[in-house]
Amino acid sequence: MSNNIVDVLWEKILQTRKETFDVVVVGFVIAGLSAAVTAHQNGATVAILERAPLDERGGNTRYTESLWRMKNHDAVSDDFQNRFSENSGGWPDPGIVKDAVLERDNQPRVLRSLGVVDPDLINTLAQEAPKCLSWLGEFGVKFDFLPTYFLSQSTTRMAPVGGGLALVDALGNYVDTHTNKISVFYETAARELITNECGHVVGVKGVSAGNTPFEAIGGSVILSCGGFQGNPEMLSHYIGPQAQFVRPVSRGGHYNRGEGIRMALDIGAAPCGDFGSFHAQPVDPRATDTEPVVLNYSYGILINDAGERFTDEGFNMVDSTYESLTRTIMAQRGGIAFAVFDKSLEDVKNWSVTVRSTVPPLLAETLDALAKLMNVPVAQLNDTVDKYNSACPNQNGFDPMVLDGLATKGLDPIKSNWARPISLPPFKAWPIICSNCFTFGGLKIDSRARVVNTEGDIIPGLYAAGEVAGIDYRTYTGSTSVMRGVVTGRLAGKDAILRDDNKAL
Ligand SMILES: Cc1cc2nc3c(=O)[nH]c(=O)nc-3n(C[C@H](O)[C@H](O)[C@H](O)COP(=O)(O)OP(=O)(O)OC[C@H]3O[C@@H](n4cnc5c(N)ncnc54)[C@H](O)[C@@H]3O)c2cc1C
Repeated sequence: MSNNIVDVLWEKILQTRKETFDVVVVGFVIAGLSAAVTAHQNGATVAILERAPLDERGGNTRYTESLWRMKNHDAVSDDFQNRFSENSGGWPDPGIVKDAVLERDNQPRVLRSLGVVDPDLINTLAQEAPKCLSWLGEFGVKFDFLPTYFLSQSTTRMAPVGGGLALVDALGNYVDTHTNKISVFYETAARELITNECGHVVGVKGVSAGNTPFEAIGGSVILSCGGFQGNPEMLSHYIGPQAQFVRPVSRGGHYNRGEGIRMALDIGAAPCGDFGSFHAQPVDPRATDTEPVVLNYSYGILINDAGERFTDEGFNMVDSTYESLTRTIMAQRGGIAFAVFDKSLEDVKNWSVTVRSTVPPLLAETLDALAKLMNVPVAQLNDTVDKYNSACPNQNGFDPMVLDGLATKGLDPIKSNWARPISLPPFKAWPIICSNCFTFGGLKIDSRARVVNTEGDIIPGLYAAGEVAGIDYRTYTGSTSVMRGVVTGRLAGKDAILRDDNKAL
């Protein structure tokens, strides 16, 4: 080896920053903070690796209202476990899942590694959520029943006063005041797990600003670095080619590029969660606002770029329809649709809370003029609206707050509720595209947030919390993502320091 190469290698080695901690947490936000603070409260030294710079810390969490599916401060919503269970897998083989009643160690390996959510984890989420809510109270966070962008709801929800940012600030402040034991490395992205000769995870390799190699060695590693909504390659690989045109619903999502999931799969972690899907939200493509949702469509009609209706706009309360309906919009040509209304939208008291886009709607005195603004065929839009109007029931009883049963007759697709003619100028339309709140595919964890491998065994020293762990199939159980970040983060933070058989090499 020439001197020159030796010099280069030495320089590389010296450039690599290597630090040692009890626990290494990847990702600063709600799952990561909950894990880091819990581990520290239990006596650990902690490193947090965070891709974003300090002034942008907060990931997805900082942009959310952080609704929690709670009935009150002491209990989750009545439908919590049922909704999760309905969406906890594809169509798993009943002959295999029947053994889920057994203690984990007695379950067959094929079940322990199966791509379905561990029922114990669902129960743990339900039991621990109220405790986590009260734990957050110790940091000054107050929860209440706050207004949302849903006019009417099919379940119960609470939220922290100040939203997700209040959570980031409260736990972030704790981290900032314990810098002797908790070190945060901003602009540092993890890329690879380090394992010892026994297969225990003992650290993380990554890269800091300036492409500087970085290593953090620890007794345990907690992956809390979100899904892959900010990674076009993984989006098109897992969800399909159109998914890379579905933008993250907030700036924070761009930082989540799936490395946490990928690096764990690379060492044999079992996948869980619906890799082909994600939490879809209907947003105004023109808007630069965070989460510029348009959720008033059930009181009007949805039109695609051919000027046609393509779905039942009112098949249920909007909080339970918007995800599947947004996916239907994604499937339209160009991935775009328009929510169209006439003057009678004003009959819906407070409709404006359902639209977070601050860009005004397209507005016209005639349908012809509106069609031109929408860039859809004028004759087709008129024909669609005429047919829809003639199918609307000729009766009173419109009630935006309940399923009012005002359904179209003889129209395909039907509009099942809130069907009223669109005939009174002025006419309005909001464009809507599908955005990606977070991805569903992730790692399989048990009810202690320990990562399971493809053989059904625990990978010693490795934990996953928040979006990195896959717990949703088909439809997201709404208002549970921040909550699961706190619960799984706390589980991981506690368990990670119990282990001393996997301390650093
Ligand atoms: C606008 C909006 C509204 C929402 N509303 C709600 C709601 O009301 N209720 C609800 O429950 N959920 C809601 N969600 C979803 C919820 O906010 C997120 O799913 C949750 O906050 C995710 O938390 P997390 O800690 O897992 O990930 P994040 O908060 O996304 O944090 C992941 C962190 O990891 C960092 N990171 C990523 N990759 C790496 C890497 N390789 N190395 C180092 N760091 C990395 C990121 O920069 C980021 O800081 C909403 C989301 C958005 C965007």
